[in-house]
Amino acid sequence: MTEEMLRKVKGAAGRANMPDYAAACAQFSWDQERAALAGLPGGGLNIAQEALDAQIARGRGDRIALRWIGRDGQRRNFSYDSLARSANRFANVLGLLGVKRGETVYSLLGREPELYFAALGTLKAGSVFCPMFAAFGPEPIQARMEIGSAKVLVTSAALYRRKVKPIRDRLPDLEHVLLIDGEAEGCAALAPMMEAASEEFATTRTRPEDPSLLHFTSGTTGLPKGARHVHEAVVAHRVTARLALDLRPEDIYWCTADPGWVTGTSYGIIAPLVIGSTMIVDEAEFDPDRWYGILADEGVTVWYTAPTAIRMLMRAGADLIGGRKFPKLRFMASVGEPLNPEAVLWGHEVFGMPFHDNWWQTETGGIMIANYAAMDVKPGSMGKPLPGIEAGIVEVTDAGVRELTKPQAIGELALRPGWPSMMRTYLHEEARYKKCFRDGWYLSGDLAMRDKDGYYWFVGRADDVIKSAGHLIGPFEVESALIEHDAVAEVGVIGIPDETAGEIVKAYVTLHKGYEPDEELERVLLGHARKRLGPAVAPKEIVFRQNLPKTRSGKIMRRLLKARELGLPEGDISTLESDEK
Ligand code: ATP
Ligand code: MG
Repeated sequence: MTEEMLRKVKGAAGRANMPDYAAACAQFSWDQERAALAGLPGGGLNIAQEALDAQIARGRGDRIALRWIGRDGQRRNFSYDSLARSANRFANVLGLLGVKRGETVYSLLGREPELYFAALGTLKAGSVFCPMFAAFGPEPIQARMEIGSAKVLVTSAALYRRKVKPIRDRLPDLEHVLLIDGEAEGCAALAPMMEAASEEFATTRTRPEDPSLLHFTSGTTGLPKGARHVHEAVVAHRVTARLALDLRPEDIYWCTADPGWVTGTSYGIIAPLVIGSTMIVDEAEFDPDRWYGILADEGVTVWYTAPTAIRMLMRAGADLIGGRKFPKLRFMASVGEPLNPEAVLWGHEVFGMPFHDNWWQTETGGIMIANYAAMDVKPGSMGKPLPGIEAGIVEVTDAGVRELTKPQAIGELALRPGWPSMMRTYLHEEARYKKCFRDGWYLSGDLAMRDKDGYYWFVGRADDVIKSAGHLIGPFEVESALIEHDAVAEVGVIGIPDETAGEIVKAYVTLHKGYEPDEELERVLLGHARKRLGPAVAPKEIVFRQNLPKTRSGKIMRRLLKARELGLPEGDISTLESDEK
């Protein structure tokens, strides 16, 4: 990143009415944030009550909570009042079915309004909600429902027939399947039950430590883990949305993540409602033209998306924007994978502001490290620990965990436990859960470094880092250098064994429209990488592909590229999505 590029995005982020980073950290207190929530009348805390009833009590009942855009372009608006009524009806349906506090309700749905009713109604009822991504096949569905002892499943007739029916007799805990449409044997129709149910419901008096959500990790590094969260997580959802997304009650907010992943729940259901803003939900899949249309037509003010989507927009070409303008857009953020500096600058060119990268995990339940909204963005950096979060770069050896305080030192990214949205367990995997904690740290499994200004830079997942001729090479650095070349749309980099160097770097590349994958281009790209990175770090080989293997949450599965390269078993690929050669 050149100085000139840095200057371009500098200052684009400074927000009015927000203290600077140091002041925000100094002022911050979790207790104060806890006290700022409404709480349940008579004591207790419940996420859905904060998201709905507390907003209505503040006079936001008529405000649009959810604006749903159907695949065919149809719009449906749900006010806070109406969303609360539907959630109440769903909670009453669960009561009629005899579903108890603490039992798990699953959904297997596209981004339909019923998914949001079910999520909020389940939380109100004091049961635990577990959303599954609709594109999962029967095996991953079974694995997830088994782990959480699913008692209820909300789905559609088509999804049921294709994906659940074949495994139903293997799920003894599953008592009720509720269909949002159609009919199937052994299932009940949700709509008439909702209609018959009362729209009044006294939210179950859950305590802050009661379980609320079960979320499975993306499966990027192996078998997905079921991280269980509690109601108190809402304290973190609310404050991190303010600090990392600059989200305010008057915002039209669009989180593009599916609720099947933690981002789509923490920041695609809970945070916007708890802030009191209007959230956009698009039923359809990614489509560049449609997305530009939504940003412009809906007057989106805050947009939270992912690197894979940003890179696909870049690949589709800015001419798709046509005459559309985005005068209302005020803040853009990204999560899920490292965001290449190139993408941050592209955001600046196209929308007049940088993307704000932030880092967190299913386990952390909320944003931990971010380009805080009133802080300069350093393209390629994930930012700094949010106020209230203590992070460190550590070295883990048999002797224990040692913090590396020297700027630029590479080590494991670790956090001091204690923030409200931290997972409370990996369900049925207590040993694996315990292994994440040592000497007063939560160990993330990611490698990072901190610069002299306190900004954190992602290096790679511990499993993906490449050791070549004495160098520690992070795939992200190599990928970002290649992506700077005009021809390159996306890159996945792995290390392959080499007798002399230990490992050498190999890159899998997809190209922008109009470029031919030939030897000449490979030579050009290898030369470009050598110039940018030096011969020790640059890839030795480039393979062109139509697509990279990715998880359904949009993460490049480097371990799969590597397993294939080495002829090893592919491991768990239940979350694999695109994978054309
Ligand atoms: P699994 O744990 O099953 O292997 P996963 O780690 O991909 O899957 P998630 O919890 O969805 O599951 O993703 C969290 C991980 O995503 C982080 O540990 C990190 O590796 C990556 N990540 C998220 N945000 C960023 C970011 N801004 N920059 C770099 N990496 C990120
Ligand atoms: Mg993980």
